[in-house]
Order: sequence, then C-alpha cells, then structure tokens
Amino acid sequence: MTDSAHREMWEKLNLDLEAHDGLLAVLGQFYGDIYLSQDNRLKGAEYLDFVLSEVHGLRIKEIQDARDAGRKVIGSFCVFVPEEITLAADAVHVGLCAGAEAGTDLAEQMVPRNTCALIKSFIGFKLARLCPFIESSDMIVGETTCDGKKKAYEAFNEIAPTYVMEVPQTKTQAARELWKSEVLRYLAEVEKLTGKTITAEKLKEGIRIANGKRRALQRLTALRAADPAPISGRDALLINQISFYDDPVRFTAKINELCDELESRIADGKGVAPAGTPRLMLSGCPMAVPNWKLPYVVEGAGAVIVGEESCIGTRNSRDLVDESGETLEEMIDAITDRYMKIDCACFTPNDERLDNVTALAKDVKADGVIHYSLLFCQPYSHEALKVDKALQAEGVPMLSIETDYSMEDVEQLKTRVEAFVETLA
Ligand code: SF4
Ligand code: SF4
Repeated sequence: MTDSAHREMWEKLNLDLEAHDGLLAVLGQFYGDIYLSQDNRLKGAEYLDFVLSEVHGLRIKEIQDARDAGRKVIGSFCVFVPEEITLAADAVHVGLCAGAEAGTDLAEQMVPRNTCALIKSFIGFKLARLCPFIESSDMIVGETTCDGKKKAYEAFNEIAPTYVMEVPQTKTQAARELWKSEVLRYLAEVEKLTGKTITAEKLKEGIRIANGKRRALQRLTALRAADPAPISGRDALLINQISFYDDPVRFTAKINELCDELESRIADGKGVAPAGTPRLMLSGCPMAVPNWKLPYVVEGAGAVIVGEESCIGTRNSRDLVDESGETLEEMIDAITDRYMKIDCACFTPNDERLDNVTALAKDVKADGVIHYSLLFCQPYSHEALKVDKALQAEGVPMLSIETDYSMEDVEQLKTRVEAFVETLA
C-alpha cells in the first residue's frame, strides 16, 4: 500500500492528518529505541514489527475491506466484552484502549483532570481525531467496571454513541445472573447490528477461535518460565497488545510459530539475557499500545520481565470457555462462567486475584513483582496493598509504582527500579 493510499484512507476516516503524522513519527522513534535496539530478538519478532508498522495502515485497510464486504466492526475498551459473540456474527472485534498521551487538554474538558491516563487517552484520541480503529467502529462497547470508566462513557457517548454492558461488582449467584442477562443482551445487540442470527454452530466457532488465541498466549506464558528467559518482556507485552488488533486466526498461527522458535531456543539453552538475570513480573493495570515505558525502564535496569498479570497479559488469556456445550444455552452459560472468572480490581471482594498473582509469580519463577497502577486508578492502587501482603507471605518482594503516560518521571522510575533490582541480584 502506498503512502498516498494510506493518506487517502485516513482522510476518508476523518483523521487529523497533520496531528496523525506527528503521532506516527513519535511512535516510530519510540519503537526504534525500545524494540529494534534489543539484542537476541526472535525471528518471529518480524511479525510483531510488521503488524506494529502497519497497525494504522494495512490492518485498517483490511478492516475497511471487511466493512465494504458487509462485515461490521465492534470496538471495545475492556476484556469483559465477549469476543466469541462478535466473531459468531462474523464481525471484527478490536480493542480501543489507548496508551499514549494525546488530546489530553481536550479530554480534560470532558472528564476531570484526576482521571486515569487510559481513560483520558481514549477520549483524547477520539477528540483529536487520531485513532483509525475508533473511526472504523460501527459499534463501540463500554462497560460498568470502575467509576472512572462508567462516568467517562456518559461523556464519550456524546461524541461516539456507546453501548454499555453492565458488569456486576461481586461474584454472587445474583451477580452471575445479571451478567448472563448482559451477555444475552449483547448477543441481541450484535445480531441487530449485523443483521445476522447467531446460531449454535457459529457460536461454537467463535468460542473455538477466541480459545485458540488464548491457548497460544498460555503457551507463551508457560515458555517464559525458562531460565535464561527466551523472550524479552517488551516483546511479550507487544504480543499481548497485538492480540487486541490483529486478525485472531492469523495472530494465533503466528504466535504458535513464535512459540515453536522459543522451544528450540530453550532446548539450546539460549535466551535474551544470561541465566540468573533478575526475573520480574508486572502486575496491575493494563498497558495499552504504545505504553512501553515501564518495561523499557525495567529491562534497561538489567532485569528481564517474565510475566504480566494484567488485562493485556494473563488476565485476558488465563481462562478458556468450556467447549463442550452444544446448544446455544449451554454455550451462553459457558461464556458467562468464563467471564465471571475475570479478577478485575473493580470486584469486591477480589481475593482470587491475590491467589492468581502469587500462583503466576511462582509459575514464571519471578524473583520479584512490580505492581503498576495508573495515577488516579483507585481499584488497582487499593489492591496494590493487598497484593504486597500476599506476596510477602510467599517470600516474593514487591515494588509498587504509580505513574501515567508522561515521560517526566522516567529518571525517577529508573532510580527506584534499579534499587529494587539490586536487592534481588
Ligand atoms: S482492568 Fe478491569 S476495567 Fe480494565 S480492561 Fe481489565 S477488566 Fe476491564
Ligand atoms: S486503569 Fe483503573 S481507573 Fe483507569 S480505567 Fe482501568 S480500572 Fe479504571
């Protein structure tokens, strides 16, 4: 695709071309510094580089072609929106969370300043006309998770009509019933949007595709337990980020190929850093593209990241939908149950997250954990205290970090992370 064809497409999507050029230039520079400068990268990383370089180009072209062929595009901000149902209606499911400071001044006219960077970012991207995924979405789906998002969707709805799913805040039987009714309401809405009936056969296929993606990510997580670590945390995070944008079938095939390469690397005793390099796990808020700040700081401090307990990480891939259901009702129950296992900090109580964090730290053989909360994120900041206690009980040290998307605190973060890594060496 030529540069002029790209520009024509972005113009049709009503992007602000000048501001968008600026964004791509910064992104390219960032990617070069943080990703292309790494040593011992996998051959499979070519796929990651290609997807990222074309994330606003060829992938958007594919999505436009799908729309021209009559398919609908559904954008979501949270792992609670059941992708299986979107796929069963032959629609395209994309993640819209944004990980860069853009349009912040505009966003702060719609939401309070003390709102987390992730929320300000997706509102800013829309207001500054920078995101071709938002502009390509036929339906945008929000959810009642944290208070910040709940209120932000009311504001966002004024600039982009937003369908909101009610996510319960507890894990009681009544909460499960509420969630099941929301899954059914979403299914009806997707049928209305696409004009397609979701049959048992189509839903089974949707479940199979979404589970395939999760299985590939589970395989990746398991391989990262090796010492030396076979892949950098930066590349593993990028894989998780790309899982929200790329075609799910292609993504699954490519990540399985990359895992084959990881297996040979492990068999040869090779890795991205020498055996014995301090191993850290990240836990907490999601890191959306291109939020690579903390992984860059951590791996620059001489540690290697071996796991991400987050929605752009194992919280999104840990649980599969039971594939044994044959009827629509059985499959809806299986989807309901799978999503009710998500241990987002918006739930109360949310003790299963503590078990999941400690179990993952053990599985990936982490020497320490960095808990990451975005500034003004109440749910994850609160849980940082509980996670610390749970890890302490298991003898795993934790460093708690609160930050945002700006680069102003990088030097300060480096100092804190380096000091933490030294205690682990
Ligand atoms: S952290 Fe909670 S609100 Fe955010 S994407 Fe995950 S489940 Fe959704
Ligand atoms: S990071 Fe925290 S405050 Fe921001 S959307 Fe997620 S749960 Fe809400």
